[in-house]
Amino acid sequence: MHFIDVVLPIPLEKTFTYVVSEKEASFLKTGMRVAVPFGKTKIYTALVYRVHQTLPETYVPKEIDQILDEAPIISEKQLKEWEWIASYYMCSLGEVFKAAVPSAFLLESETLILKNESFNIGEENSLADDEWLVYEALQHQSMLKVQEVSSIIDRKNILPVLKRLLEKNVIHLKEEVYEQYKPKLVRYIKLGNAYTSDEKLSELLASLSNRAHKQREVIMTLFSMEATTNKPIKVKDLEEKSGASSAVVKTLIEKNILEEYHLQQDRIQYEGDKVSSLKDLNEYQASALTKINNHFKTDEVVLLHGVTSSGKTEVYVKLIEKVINEGKQVLYLLPEIALTTQLIKRLQDYFGEKVSVYHSKYSVNERVEVWNNILKSVSKAQIVIGARSAVLLPFSNLGLVIVDEEHEVSFKQFDPAPRYHARDTAIVLASLHKAKTLLGTATPSIESFYNTKIGKYKLVEINRRYGNVLMPDIELTDIKEKHRKKRMTGHFSDRLIEAMQEAIEEGEQIILFQNRRGYAPILECNTCGHSPQCPNCDVSLTYHQYKNQLRCHYCGYAMAKQLACGACGSSELDTKGFGTEQIEAELKEIFPKLKIGRMDSDTTRGKYGYEKIITAFEQQEIDILVGTQMLTKGLDFRNVSLVGVMNADNLLNFPDFRAHERSFQLIQQVSGRAGRTKKRGKVIIQTYNPFHQVLQQASLNRYEELFTDQVNERRQFKYPPFTRIIKIVFKNKDYNKVNEASSWYAKALHTVFDSYTKTEILGPEFPPVSRIRNEYLKNIVIKVPQNQSTKQTKDALRKIDKTFNAIAAYRSVRIIYNVDAY
Ligand code: ADP
Ligand code: ZN
Ligand code: ZN
Repeated sequence: MHFIDVVLPIPLEKTFTYVVSEKEASFLKTGMRVAVPFGKTKIYTALVYRVHQTLPETYVPKEIDQILDEAPIISEKQLKEWEWIASYYMCSLGEVFKAAVPSAFLLESETLILKNESFNIGEENSLADDEWLVYEALQHQSMLKVQEVSSIIDRKNILPVLKRLLEKNVIHLKEEVYEQYKPKLVRYIKLGNAYTSDEKLSELLASLSNRAHKQREVIMTLFSMEATTNKPIKVKDLEEKSGASSAVVKTLIEKNILEEYHLQQDRIQYEGDKVSSLKDLNEYQASALTKINNHFKTDEVVLLHGVTSSGKTEVYVKLIEKVINEGKQVLYLLPEIALTTQLIKRLQDYFGEKVSVYHSKYSVNERVEVWNNILKSVSKAQIVIGARSAVLLPFSNLGLVIVDEEHEVSFKQFDPAPRYHARDTAIVLASLHKAKTLLGTATPSIESFYNTKIGKYKLVEINRRYGNVLMPDIELTDIKEKHRKKRMTGHFSDRLIEAMQEAIEEGEQIILFQNRRGYAPILECNTCGHSPQCPNCDVSLTYHQYKNQLRCHYCGYAMAKQLACGACGSSELDTKGFGTEQIEAELKEIFPKLKIGRMDSDTTRGKYGYEKIITAFEQQEIDILVGTQMLTKGLDFRNVSLVGVMNADNLLNFPDFRAHERSFQLIQQVSGRAGRTKKRGKVIIQTYNPFHQVLQQASLNRYEELFTDQVNERRQFKYPPFTRIIKIVFKNKDYNKVNEASSWYAKALHTVFDSYTKTEILGPEFPPVSRIRNEYLKNIVIKVPQNQSTKQTKDALRKIDKTFNAIAAYRSVRIIYNVDAY
């Protein structure tokens, strides 16, 4: 007998075995998809993991439903990478599979409702009204979909009706698999086979000459088009050029004079034509490039630490050129899509249609096409730009990975599993391909910089901006003092306003940074102190003035803003704190003549959301752009001379061991948007703590100093890179269950770890926001010392997990493992 083990896109760790015929077994390969029955009625898309002949010991395997692929859709190395992710980040291979493939690859099954022929027509009268409606519909239609039934009986919940109909033998159900991906087909046209000889052709033209001059016109046009190009001729183009209606073309096709055929076309096509040549590097860039190439002779990973606007991108471009000339693939990872707009343009200018983008905002069909192009290693997808999940694509011949803005926290997937770090995964991916990895940033993560210190990565630096533009002049403004002296207008100090006026007079643009969206994070009653909370989460609702709403930033809950306090009825409501909306509103009062733009996740929804704002700002249709950290990321605006940070303190006070590192990075990155071309940029940082160490370091570009401080602190308090953090989150709607389950787990951890290791176990503890979407959360944090194997720790956790799952009382408690948690 022949069997296959398959991976299902679900959180269960093991593979499942199915029976296949000998013929199927010889056809099937690892990485092909099959549809398999699972559970009572479900059909899943599964990935073939192994073909073999060993009967499973504990269960009788079912047969597969059907084979879905002609060839594997994932590559061998990709599967290895996925297995590494599953093992390192403690999730199932199925979860990686699910996260990696475009959803169009995961066929869904759909329940169809069919007439049961054994039902006696005489029993119709026994049917209730709603049952009868379904029955009647099935007399006219051989099968119904669930939604159709729902609209027939005008009700959402149709299960009770279906259940009764099943019991009465009126219907039966069938699961059917359907494919979501539909290739885009374009109609082409050519001369029919019978007419390809000159002789036949003249006969044809003669026969058409008098009676059908329109048809003749079409054929003559097709001729002249074929003479000028070797490319296939589109039906659409032929109709346009010949001025003939589609009816005329159709007649010719029906007469077999013309022949119609279809070709598959990718939905995303690069339309540009001009390909510009690469820029010459200046001496600092050239020397960095040489050093990188030298390191790559012996080492795998290089960190390029180049100040903002030092021209790192041009260095990447040279590296990319070299690798694609060797015929290999390049992966260019970016933290977020916000960045891609400008970068894609830049890379396409150099490499034209070799650039493909893998984008969460692309449709599933578009993503399937990019996937297939990468899998087949076609030149169109030789350079792939993408955010996090692009690291999971089917590369077969990778030569180089660039991780731009390597310090960005958004490279770490938070929810759902796999909770992988795309930078770290990229390094593993590259090593599977024997490819090189370049990490680039102006503000390295402490971990990466530390890795250069211990020789794990090589370090290359560029300390000057391109064109010798000076680093921006960063000024700290004490707003405690300004408040005392009454020099504040709303949230603007007189100093910031003055600098803004100067910039505007010079015709320059301004960026203002505030790390919060909405109008104000808290609405508070002046009489009783009550502030509206989210009913589902343990947080205050944020006031959004634009929509006059209170909104929860955790679950999306929204309600209209009330005029009176919900607790005491007082109408004296006040806001606490401020977000981008409030800054925008204040700006409109202070500078009524200027155009103000706002860039945060409220204004950048939709496929081209970012693009619109970025373009408007580039074309100077916006004078002042207010935004959240989205603004900080690698954007290259020519005319920005001033950057304002509205309030640096809420960055510094964030309860996280990375808060200082992050504050430094954010300030430096957002400052880096100022004065990128001609004159020196200016940055004004408003703060209550102008003497704070980290603000000083950020304003004086003292990265090494920050690094040393951070490393000392982290060594002392046992944080990464000196430990690895595994966070275990317990989730349940029942408060007591979360408490009991997490205590049980902590006890189990202590019995394992206390005796023989230095592993530290913290908690269980409620996080600052301890209820989200009506689920309570409690955390246990494990710190694994540097010199100890995390594999051993994870094995121990897996064991405890197994026992935990066997306890009936805790079955409903969800456990999340987050390795290298932030
Ligand atoms: P970074 O990525 O380091 O912040 P960029 O690569 O965006 O810097 O470069 C900053 C600006 O300088 C860009 O507008 C870029 O076009 C320009 N630039 C960089 N290097 C060169 C070069 N060698 N020749 C011409 N312009 C350059
Ligand atoms: Zn009140
Ligand atoms: Zn909420």
